[in-house]
Amino acid sequence: MSLQLQVDASLKSFNSFGVDVRASLLAEAHTDSDVREALQYSVDQQLPLLVIGGGSNLLLTSDVHALVLRMVSRGIRIVADNAQRVVVEAEAGEVWHAFVLWTLEQGLSGLENLSLIPGTVGAAPMQNIGAYGVEIKDVFEGLTALDRYTGKLREFSLTDCEFGYRDSVFKQQPGRWLILRVRFALSRVERLHLEYGPVRQRLSELGVERPTASDVSRAICSIRSEKLPDPAVLGNAGSFFKNPLVSAQQADELKSQYPGLIGYPQADGQVKLAAGWLIETAGWKGFREADAGVHRLQSLVLVNYGAATGLQLLALAQRIQADIQQRFAVQLEMEPNVYKVGNLAG
Ligand code: FAD
Ligand code: NAP
Repeated sequence: MSLQLQVDASLKSFNSFGVDVRASLLAEAHTDSDVREALQYSVDQQLPLLVIGGGSNLLLTSDVHALVLRMVSRGIRIVADNAQRVVVEAEAGEVWHAFVLWTLEQGLSGLENLSLIPGTVGAAPMQNIGAYGVEIKDVFEGLTALDRYTGKLREFSLTDCEFGYRDSVFKQQPGRWLILRVRFALSRVERLHLEYGPVRQRLSELGVERPTASDVSRAICSIRSEKLPDPAVLGNAGSFFKNPLVSAQQADELKSQYPGLIGYPQADGQVKLAAGWLIETAGWKGFREADAGVHRLQSLVLVNYGAATGLQLLALAQRIQADIQQRFAVQLEMEPNVYKVGNLAG
């Protein structure tokens, strides 16, 4: 066997919350054959398999009784180029932000608004990562995944992925699909998305009058570095809750009670409420109990001040959910993937 297995390994540095749990077995996948070998081993040993990238969208609430496979495969290539439209393929283990910078260096636009999102290319389709008005579905071309249950490769088109708001078929079928590589259709002609409030403002603060895609990337990196805690300094998994969708009638009723309510009407008539506003209005911003807390600047972000356990963070999230439900009759859904004993595919 070429796969290197580490027994009883710490996962503290492999999840951005910095939660101190252990994996029964830990291995790195550099190639497709490493992934196949890990899959075969988990089947032979009847051990669950947990595939991870950068661990930046994970909440681990216990030791992981599984083979944890870190995707570290590398490689970026142009697979089609018809002058304006260029299809780029990246291996699952590529670091997302480094990949975005590579595309910009090639003069390709499309991913600039997704700059500085932590994690890997292979995890990006899991929740159709999005920021500043762009989601990967907007530039998605296809991906290759291994089916855990049949061991066969499958190609996914845009429609196959069933992308939604922070959602996909991969998130709906946890553990089934091992994403090996992803393709994006990018453009040599820049069509910039600057409509998210702070982006234009930051560009003008930076003195940029006619922005390029690289300027937009720099502006977004600068906004994000100011607003978001760096997981290397303060453990977190980004936004802990999705922005809830409610009916226009419920949004109107809430607005009459809370004139400051922030909501964005959607094409289907629903209204997307800013979960951060609900949590802040309910008084949770800056809350801390032991080492689990709500960030003092970003109420959507739960943080680990050092020794919080996954269960403490989960309990805090559940208290916030119950409070928001009681005050506003709005159900908040957690965004990170929560692992509990027994919820991994065997
Ligand atoms: P992991 O956390 O390792 O895994 C996430 C899930 O994907 C797990 O269920 C895992 O089993 C599965 N998975 C991972 N790799 C694979 C694979 N190759 N095949 C199959 N399944 C796999 N998200 C946004 O959408 N927008 C943002 O703006 C954003 N900002 C963030 C800011 C901060 C500071 C942080 C900490 C997080 C942020 N996130 C954001 C969340 C996170 O960065 C993304 O969800 C990212 O795509 C997770 O990548 P990862 O490699 O760390 O995934
Ligand atoms: P923000 O700009 O303070 O806005 C608050 C919320 O309002 C955002 O969540 C965003 O929803 C929504 N919003 C803002 N302007 C909008 C517009 N013009 N149209 C529709 N919706 C709008 O948000 P922020 O917290 O600083 O984050 C900025 C961007 O980065 C957001 O897109 C956010 O999703 C993304 N982000 C995501 C994570 C994560 O872990 N998922 C972490 C940090 C930042 P949307 O979230 O639906 O875009």
